[in-house]
This record gives sequence, structure tokens and C-alpha cells, in this order.
Amino acid sequence: MKRPRIVIVGASLAGATAAATLRDDGFDGEIHLIGAESQPPYNRPPLSKGYLRRQERFEDQLVKPVGYYAEQHIELKLRARATTIDARQKVVELEGGERLSYDQLLVTTGGRNRALSVPGANLEGVFQLRTVEDCDRIRAASQRGRRAVLMGFGFIGSEVAASLRQLGIEVAAVEGSRVPLARVLGEEVGQVLADIHREKGVDLISEDFVTAFEGAGRVERVRTRKGRALECDMVVAGIGIVPNTELLASAGAQVDNGVLVDEHCRTSLADVFAAGDVTNHLHPIFGRLRVEHWNNGYQQGRAAVRSLLGGAQPYDYVHSFWSDQYEHSIEYVGFAASWDRLVFRGRIESRKFLGFYLKDGTVQAVVGLNRGGDPEDPKADGELKAAVGLIRRRARVDAAKLVDEDADLRTLVVSGERRTPASGD
Ligand SMILES: Cc1cc2nc3c(=O)[nH]c(=O)nc-3n(C[C@H](O)[C@H](O)[C@H](O)COP(=O)(O)OP(=O)(O)OC[C@H]3O[C@@H](n4cnc5c(N)ncnc54)[C@H](O)[C@@H]3O)c2cc1C
Repeated sequence: MKRPRIVIVGASLAGATAAATLRDDGFDGEIHLIGAESQPPYNRPPLSKGYLRRQERFEDQLVKPVGYYAEQHIELKLRARATTIDARQKVVELEGGERLSYDQLLVTTGGRNRALSVPGANLEGVFQLRTVEDCDRIRAASQRGRRAVLMGFGFIGSEVAASLRQLGIEVAAVEGSRVPLARVLGEEVGQVLADIHREKGVDLISEDFVTAFEGAGRVERVRTRKGRALECDMVVAGIGIVPNTELLASAGAQVDNGVLVDEHCRTSLADVFAAGDVTNHLHPIFGRLRVEHWNNGYQQGRAAVRSLLGGAQPYDYVHSFWSDQYEHSIEYVGFAASWDRLVFRGRIESRKFLGFYLKDGTVQAVVGLNRGGDPEDPKADGELKAAVGLIRRRARVDAAKLVDEDADLRTLVVSGERRTPASGD
């Protein structure tokens, strides 16, 4: 009898996690994991942190050890780009013409860097960061370079700035907003992070925009809209990613800032699922959203497998991410596109606090700066876990208690009612 075949396109975090979960859950059919990159699936977070600083080895960043795929009879095909999906015939075509039929297909094609459309973007020494090869180029440049300019100061930009400062490089950063990271974290928290970077020596320039890179073959300076000329020998642009949706869009799947999937990771095409950065997913608590978080790549990769194997449980993971900058660690749970109140437990000046993003009295998200994992402070441990409970329940909470260090977060729900899931509030 023919064994069922699951094809996974995109061999990174979500794809490799899904392949491993299929085996863990007892699927004994064929698994084909198709990846455009030349390296086996690896984790990207160290690329702006320890690996960039040459403190960590690439081998330690793999999602699974190199031999794992062969041991588990997972056909891992690297340097292989899927070019078309024929959803009616249930066939994936690869660059070079190979055709692979599937019974079920999982697409985990993630995202790619937004194109850099600034004059001089092709000069040597101008970098973007997504892959280990990108990181290796930045690493090599950082060994020769003395002055870097960061274009954009989101999470990637600010982490790279921190790493380059730790390597002893002079760093200037050009950021369009008044306060970096304010859109995600709010102005007060963004300001704390901006202060940290400035104290560490970053020349953080806000409300300005890069207009050109100049140099004779290699970048020598960055020009800005407000007339600055920043001398440098390298540039890292962290200007965001676009989801790799073309494969599914041309197959007829619905796409809107990511491929649209339901709570079960199903696309609009029969037997085609998607997970990770590429998805704009319907979430039972947060409504529709697309996130670019490691935890989502991992969790949604697993959830997609449950659906592939016929499970009926929706994907309702309460989103979370972290960011490490210098000795500071940021943790965030939930999702708040907007909020009407931000209250703090712990003094914000102490740089050790929790911030609660509230809307209509309910906690949408919580940020922690230097709050978790402190063995000296057992109370802080488990706070974010308790916060997840508050977010999940969508019940109204007493803000005065949220800010009270002595109040146990697990006991703070005021009205027991559960909000309608995905009500979009
Ligand atoms: C430098 C950096 C630092 C980060 N740090 C953090 C952090 O601190 N915390 C955090 O929460 N998140 C962090 N992230 C985000 C996190 O790494 C991503 O959310 C995660 O990688 C998403 O995994 P994914 O598998 O969905 O997609 P991706 O990792 O983007 O992988 C998609 C894969 O699909 C392949 N592919 C695309 N199209 C095709 C095709 N047609 N055929 C075959 N293969 C294809 C791509 O080559 C790629 O290998 C960071 C990301 C970067 C780049």
C-alpha cells in the first residue's frame, strides 16, 4: 500500500519543528522537507546576538542535529527552491523541474528582508540580516570595521547595535520614529531602551531617514534627510521583512500580509497548511495577526502537525517573544496593537519592571524588562506565566493591583466573565 506523503516547503524553524513533531506523534509515512538554503534548519536569534559576537558556534544553533533527519527518515532536501504548487494535482515543482506529489502540504516559507531601495544600496559594506551567510558577512566586516551605521532601530537593528558596541565598534543609528520600538512597546519603554543604548555609546538619531549610501565601491558615508553625513565603513539595514507568500498566492491561496490561515493552520486550498512567519493567522484570542517570533515558528509548526493529523484543537498559543540587548533582557507576552493604558509594576527607572498594556480594563500584553529568571527573586519567576493566564482569560483586572508588587498576579481577575473569543477588541 502506498504510504501517505507530507511535503513541507521551507526548511527552517517552523518546517523542521513540524517534521520532527510528525515523527514524534507517530506519523510513519513519507516526510519531505524542502529548503532553499544550503544549511540544515537553524535558529536565527543568535545571528544578531552571540553568534554575531563570535561567542557561539553555528553547530549549536541547529534546530536538530545534522544526523537527525536521516535517522528519522525525513527526506531533507537543501538548496532546493519550490517554484510552483499545483493544488489540483497536488504536486510541488522545484527549481530544475523535479515534481513531488503530496497528500498534504505544509508551507513554512517565512520571510525575506524588505528590499533596500536607497541609492548606493549595492555598495560593498551595506548589509541586511536574515541568514547565517548574511551574518557571516557582517561578522567579517566587523573584524575590519570601526564605524557602523544602523538603518532602522527595531528589534533586529537594536540587537545588532548592541552586539557591535560589545565588539568595540562605533555605532550610529538612524530611526524614523521619535522613540524607537514605541509602536510595539510604547513610548515609556522605548525611551528606557533608547537611554540604555545611548549610555552604551550608540549615537541614536531619531526622526530622520537614510537617503543615500555613498562611497567609491565600498560604503564610506550615509546621508540623511535632515542633512547629516555619517562616516562609516559598514551599514546594517534592519527595515523589516516581507512574508514569502508568492508560492501560495500563485497557487490560488488567499493572501493578505501573509498567507491567510484559520485557527487550524489551514490555507484556503484543500490539504494545504501553513505555519510560522509566513502566516496571517486567525487566533481565538487576538483575532487575525501575523507575527515574527521564534516561539510562534516553533508552536505553530507543532500546531500545524496536529491539524495535518486530523486534530480539532485550534492554535491558541498566547504569543510571546524575547530580545537580549547588552546585559538587559526583554520578554513580552500577548499581543497589543493598541492600548488605552500602560501601567508598571516596579519603577521604570530601576530598569526592572513589568508593563501591562490594558484596553477596556483587560490585559492585552505584558512586557518584562530584567524581570524573569532571577534566582535571587523567586517572586519574579512565574510572573509572566501568570500574565499569560490574565491575557488568556480576557477578564477585567484591577490596575491598582497590577502595579502592587505584593499582589499575586494569579489572583487579580475582577469579573469572571470570559470575553467572546476573537471579538477584535
Ligand atoms: C537576526 C534575527 C534575530 C532574531 N531574533 C529573535 C528573537 O530574539 N526573538 C524572537 O522571538 N524571534 C527572533 N527572530 C525571529 C525568528 O527567527 C523567526 O520568527 C523565525 O525564524 C521564523 O521561522 P519560520 O520557519 O517561520 O521562517 P524562516 O526562518 O524565515 O524560514 C523560512 C525558510 O523557508 C525557505 N524558503 C522560502 N521560500 C522557499 C521556497 N520557495 N522553497 C524552499 N524554501 C523556501 C527560506 O529560505 C527559509 O529557510 C529573529 C530573526 C532574525 C533574522
